[in-house]
Amino acid sequence: FSGAIETDAVIIGAGPVGLFQVFELGLLEIKAHVIDSLGAVGGQCVELYPDKPIYDIPAVPVCTGQELTDNLLKQIEPFEPTFHLGQEVTGVQRREDNRFNVETSSGTRFITKTIFIAAGVGSFQARTLKVDGIEAFDGSQLHYRVKDPSIFDGKNLVVCGGGDSALDWALNFVGKAESVVLVHRRDDFRAAPASVAKMKALCDAYEMQLITGQVTGFDAKDGKLSEVKVTGADGVTRRVPLDMLLVFFGLSPKLGPIAEWGLDIERRQLKVVDTEKFETNVPGIFAVGDINTYPGKKKLILSGFHEAALAAFGAAPYIFPDKKIHMQYTTTSPKLHKILGVE
Ligand code: FAD
Repeated sequence: FSGAIETDAVIIGAGPVGLFQVFELGLLEIKAHVIDSLGAVGGQCVELYPDKPIYDIPAVPVCTGQELTDNLLKQIEPFEPTFHLGQEVTGVQRREDNRFNVETSSGTRFITKTIFIAAGVGSFQARTLKVDGIEAFDGSQLHYRVKDPSIFDGKNLVVCGGGDSALDWALNFVGKAESVVLVHRRDDFRAAPASVAKMKALCDAYEMQLITGQVTGFDAKDGKLSEVKVTGADGVTRRVPLDMLLVFFGLSPKLGPIAEWGLDIERRQLKVVDTEKFETNVPGIFAVGDINTYPGKKKLILSGFHEAALAAFGAAPYIFPDKKIHMQYTTTSPKLHKILGVE
């Protein structure tokens, strides 16, 4: 397993529970690497409701999804976790020395004593355009996210979708691209009303175009995507020539590769052996937060925090087999003050 990073703990998922897992491991002097398939930390809180208020975090009367995430990041700062973002964990295998090989979609490798799966509802993946054969252009002329906006300059663009990503990018490209056509299946938009109003004004000024309909087919010339066929609510199919097709249909969570690691799964959730350690049927692999299930499970952030604390104590004997682990209070323990850097 060449080039692998050797570590005591790998956390899969940087949602609120994965982040708090760093804290609970840190108090026991266990350093962690955190991997997430998204480009940013925060899981559902940041991906699905960054500006919505949460009212049931103990002692925090109200905070938004983004604020909760920012505070968790601040709280785990003393433990200096290493983040590996924008990469999905694709492989987990037991080694002969009883540790695990972990590999990501970008080829990052780890050899670890313990694994904490805090993968929520699974890894978020872009919902794809369901048109036979169009996947051949994925990454060249068909894009589900924008990594480098400059590749779209001067091009004829078709942007599909009616949410904030579709509208924000369509508006962003007006003036930079040769042409921008927005395709959305309904008159109704999920995006911010101000963006919708701006889009309509640009259409009235002939700076972009809106077509109500769905992409139902395409044509290619010399191996290149040359036009899409858009079928409107009126049943009429229009041909729209293009250089690039951008699709923003939102993200859908997939359990994905986790289903192949030999773990007990019940209705897309990982079963834990008990609620003492939140360990799965594979010794050394723990499951915390929304991804796990046990009698009485509630998919709440506060439950995930509790699970992370007990999982850390459950994992400590794999990392320090000869050490007796005592629970200590952060208020009064000089040792924890040292660990937290608050001496
Ligand atoms: P998630 O937040 O789902 O994070 C999991 C992370 O794991 C994701 O970022 C994902 O990309 C990553 N991941 C998954 N698989 C892989 C893989 N193979 N490789 C790499 N990364 C992977 N809860 C409350 O307690 N109070 C509330 O008020 C509340 N309001 C909510 C409102 C809405 C609209 C929603 C949708 C949820 C709400 N929740 C609330 C639920 C709460 O958001 C979840 O319980 C919480 O996010 C679970 O945290 P988690 O860390 O377990 O998982």
